[in-house]
Amino acid sequence: MEKESKRFHIITYGCQMNQYDTGIISEILKNEGYIPVNNERDADIVILNTCAVREHAEKRVMGRIHSLGRLKKRKNIKIGVVGCMAKRLPELLEIPEVDFVAGPDAYRNLPVIIGREGVFEEGNPFEDYNEIWPLNEGISAYVSISRGCDNFCSYCIVPYVRGPLRSRPVDTILEEVEYLVAQGVKEIILLGQNVNEYNYKGVGFASLLGMVADIKGVEMLNFLTSHPKDIDYNMFMVMAEKKNMVRYLHLPVQAGNNRILKLMNRHYTVEEYRDTVRRLRSILPDVTLTTDLLVGFPGETEKEFMDTLALVEDIRFDHAFMFRFSPRPGTLAALMEDKLTDEEKIKRLRKLIDVQNRIIRERNKEMLGKSFRCIVMKPAKKGGYLCKTWTGKYIAVSENVNIGDVISVKVTHLRGNTPVGITQKDKEE
Ligand code: SF4
Repeated sequence: MEKESKRFHIITYGCQMNQYDTGIISEILKNEGYIPVNNERDADIVILNTCAVREHAEKRVMGRIHSLGRLKKRKNIKIGVVGCMAKRLPELLEIPEVDFVAGPDAYRNLPVIIGREGVFEEGNPFEDYNEIWPLNEGISAYVSISRGCDNFCSYCIVPYVRGPLRSRPVDTILEEVEYLVAQGVKEIILLGQNVNEYNYKGVGFASLLGMVADIKGVEMLNFLTSHPKDIDYNMFMVMAEKKNMVRYLHLPVQAGNNRILKLMNRHYTVEEYRDTVRRLRSILPDVTLTTDLLVGFPGETEKEFMDTLALVEDIRFDHAFMFRFSPRPGTLAALMEDKLTDEEKIKRLRKLIDVQNRIIRERNKEMLGKSFRCIVMKPAKKGGYLCKTWTGKYIAVSENVNIGDVISVKVTHLRGNTPVGITQKDKEE
């Protein structure tokens, strides 16, 4: 391809793993002489890095393909669809606007795929992109420690589109972190669909976490996502012992009823989840705890939904990502009898959001008047800057600070649900 036709732009949907993968795609293309540009109008190749976790995400991608089709009529661009939706729906290639389709394990071949017409590439199921280290803008960086998932939660499409669990070698993870720190990165976020299943030649997640925490220059160390069935208490000890570890845990519970958890194939009970939280809070009393909740699972009764509400009231999560069930074709839950109307699911979701939003506000109010050590992360949308505490919370400040600075901030008030503060000298959390 001529240099003039090698400008690419990637539009990313979905989770942090997809954001990381966008960095991988970008590195692969740049190594082959392709040039990244900031918007689709300046690009010769537009790549949609897609998500298949919810129907809504797929609908957004379809809408974007059609709007890009109008650009394609004016300008000779190539349109590629990659990622989870691409793996789930190879027939996307039949859409006239789409030139190539590639799953999450096929990115190494993109330079070849782009040059051909009408290609679907499934990729290598053992791919781990081990030596490709994306460097995005900013002082925070993701590092994938594993790819894929073997858990087959009954509602989830991820194991089908991202393949089996593969843990990356310890040494290259450590080298990648050292490289990122040398580039000025302050916060490392280790990524895996289930980080607690990480295992490379007998090294488990808690040990890996300790090794990364010991790397000089890692100011803040974070990780996503944990599965309640695999929680290892050694991990809590590492979180308590290492100064640069965040005292933050995202622990998706999904539902507060044992029958529903069993149908979801989650392999823990509500009682076990409560016990994990109790132990976590006894080791890390100031921990920030967030979760995922899925309402309206097939067959969920009003009483079972109320069990979820009761759990939320009891645990008092600092934040929650809340969704209503939508069947993903190919998963077990899509075959279950789903008698609940959309109206009923929406009603339950609204009720849950109301309760959780009140709790978020109450939790954030507990921060008022307290000082927190934090890193200035990025400009805030409404002016000023967002700082991140070692308890994983964001505080807005309007003063003149520099991104990357470690500062102490006293929370003075809430703007909506966002804590707002002023900088302080010599005071720490
Ligand atoms: S652990 Fe469950 S919800 Fe998470 S990616 Fe794997 S199958 Fe999906």
